[in-house]
Amino acid sequence: MEPQKEKRFIVLANWKMHKTLAESIDYVKALHEGLQTPGDRVEIILCVPFTMLGAVSREVTSSMVSVGGQDVHDRDWGAFTGEISAPMLADVGAAYGMVGHSERRKYSSETDEVVNAKARALHRAGIVPIVCIGETIDERKRGLTLNKLERQAMVCFDGFSGDEMERTVILYEPIWAIGTGHIATAEQAGEAHGFIRRMIERLFSGKAASMTRIVYGGSVKHKNVSDMLKVKDIDGVGVGSDSLDVENFLGIVERCTEAVSMKIS
Ligand code: PEP
Repeated sequence: MEPQKEKRFIVLANWKMHKTLAESIDYVKALHEGLQTPGDRVEIILCVPFTMLGAVSREVTSSMVSVGGQDVHDRDWGAFTGEISAPMLADVGAAYGMVGHSERRKYSSETDEVVNAKARALHRAGIVPIVCIGETIDERKRGLTLNKLERQAMVCFDGFSGDEMERTVILYEPIWAIGTGHIATAEQAGEAHGFIRRMIERLFSGKAASMTRIVYGGSVKHKNVSDMLKVKDIDGVGVGSDSLDVENFLGIVERCTEAVSMKIS
C-alpha cells in the first residue's frame, strides 16, 4: 500500500524478532477490530519480521495501516545469500523500510555509511526509509548529543534529493531509552527534534524540514505516551515492547488520535 502524501502522525510498531505467522495474523485482525474511528490523520506502520511481511500486508484492509521491513540490503539483486533487497520488500507490499536501528548498529556493526546505502536502495525502490539515529548515554552525559545527531544526519542523508528527504522518516531513538523503561523527557525529545528539523532545513530546504516526519522512539508505552505527545516537533512515536500487545498498542493509537485531533481543531 502506498503511503499517502499528506503528513500523517505516525504510530510505529517495531516487533523486532517476535511473533509467529499465526500470531501476526491474529494481531492484525484485532488491530482492525479495535480501530474504532479510522481517521486520515494518523498512520500506523507495522515493522514486522521478513517472514510475515507478505501475510501481514495481505491482511491489512485499513488505509490507516502500512507495513514495513526492519532492515534491507543495499543492493537490488545478486549473489548475497541470506539478504533481502528493497525491490523484494516492495514486491510483498512493504511501503516502509527501517534502517540503522541501534540493535543493527550494535549486533551487525552497521555504520552510518551502510545506513545511507540502504536508505538510498529503499528510495530507488519507491519505499520510504525510516532512518534511526540517536545518542548513547555516555554521549548524552558528555554533552555530545547534538554533535552525534548532526554527524549521523550528515552521513545517513548524504546524496538525498530534497524530494527524497521530504519522504524520509527520521526515527530519533536515544539508545539509553530503548528497552530500558527510561523514556526521554519532553524537554530532551523536544530539543533533539527541534535540532534535527533545523538541521534538515540547513542541509536541504525549509520545505524538506517541514515535510520530513521526525518520530520519537524509546520506552514509549500506553501509560506514558501522552507526555510525549506534548512535544512540539514530534510527528509520531515508535514503539517496541509495548507494541507486541495489541491492546496496549491500540491504547497508544487512541491517545495519539485524540492528541492529533485536538491539535488541529
Ligand atoms: C525500539 O527498539 O525501536 C523501541 C522503541 O523499543 P522500546 O519501545 O521497547 O524501547
